[in-house]
Amino acid sequence: MKGQSPVYLLFLSKFMEPKPLEWAEDKDYWREMLHEKPKHVSNRLVKEGMIEISSLPERIAFRFTIKELQKKLQLRNIKTSGAKNDLIQRLIEVAPDEMDKISPTIYQCTAEGRRVVEQYLAEEQEKREVIGEKVFELISKRDFVKAVEALEEYRKQNPSLYPISNLALKREPKRDIALLKVLFEGTPGILREMEADRLLFIRMIAALDGIGTPSCSRTHLPKDFETGIKLDGPAACRMFGFYANYVLQIEEYKQSGIKRVEISCSNDERVCTECRKIAGKKYVLSALPEIPNPKCTCTDGCRCVILADFGFLK
Ligand SMILES: [Zn+2]
Repeated sequence: MKGQSPVYLLFLSKFMEPKPLEWAEDKDYWREMLHEKPKHVSNRLVKEGMIEISSLPERIAFRFTIKELQKKLQLRNIKTSGAKNDLIQRLIEVAPDEMDKISPTIYQCTAEGRRVVEQYLAEEQEKREVIGEKVFELISKRDFVKAVEALEEYRKQNPSLYPISNLALKREPKRDIALLKVLFEGTPGILREMEADRLLFIRMIAALDGIGTPSCSRTHLPKDFETGIKLDGPAACRMFGFYANYVLQIEEYKQSGIKRVEISCSNDERVCTECRKIAGKKYVLSALPEIPNPKCTCTDGCRCVILADFGFLK
C-alpha cells in the first residue's frame, strides 16, 4: 500500500519538526523519490490525520527569535523577561489577530502521526543494526563481494539511507569491493607504528565506514579507543579511508591517461611543516609521495589530497 511505503514514512517523519506544507516543493529529489508532487503527499497526510496546522504559539515560535519577540514587547511597553513561551503568551494576549496574521501556516505531526513515525524510526534503527552486524561478519571473513551485495540490497529496500538524493549518493559496488581489498592489503605509512591488534580494529572500522555501512563507527568504535599513536581513533580511521581512496584514485588516473597530479592541502595553521613541503607541488604519478603523508604530524591527521593535472593529459 502506497500510504505505508518507506518513502512515505520518511517524508512524514520530516513533519516531526514544524514545516510549511510546500517545504519540499522545490526539492527535486523528493519528487523523484515520491513519484508525485510532494505537496500532494502533504495534502494527503492532512486528510489522513497524520499532520495538522500547528497552534498559534508554535507558529509564532517557528517564525520569531527571542530577540525579535522581545522587540515586539518592548514597542508595546510590555515586560520582556522570561522564557520564549512566556513572551509568546504575552504577545498573544495583547495582539492575537496581528500575531495570527504575521505567523506562517505551518504543519506538524498529530499524536497519531508521531506514533507512526516513532514506530517507523525504531524499525529503521533495528534494520540498521542488523545490516551493520551482517556486513561486519562478512568483512571479518573477507567476503567483500557478499558484504557489498548485502549493503546494496539493504539500500534498495530502505530509501532512508538517501536523505539528500538517490543520485548523489549512488555507490559503485565494484569500487566498494576494490576499496575493501586495498584496505585489507595495504597499511598507510602514517599508521605504521600502530600495534597489530589495534591496527586490525581500525582497519575493520575504516572498511565499514568506507562502503557506507549505516551507523557503524558509532556502534563499533569506542569513544576512548586507544590507538597507541598520536592520532585518535576517528582520525586513524580517516587516514585509512584517505589512503584507500588515494590508491584507487591513482589507478583511475592511470586508466584515464592522466600522468601528473598536484598535491593540495588546506592552507591553515593546522597544517604541519612536513605537509607544507609537498603541498602545492606537481608530481608524475610514478613519483607521487604517499597520501596521507607518512611524515605528517598534523594533530588531526593529514588533510592532503591529490588533484588531476589536466594540462598533462597528452
Ligand atoms: Zn601534516
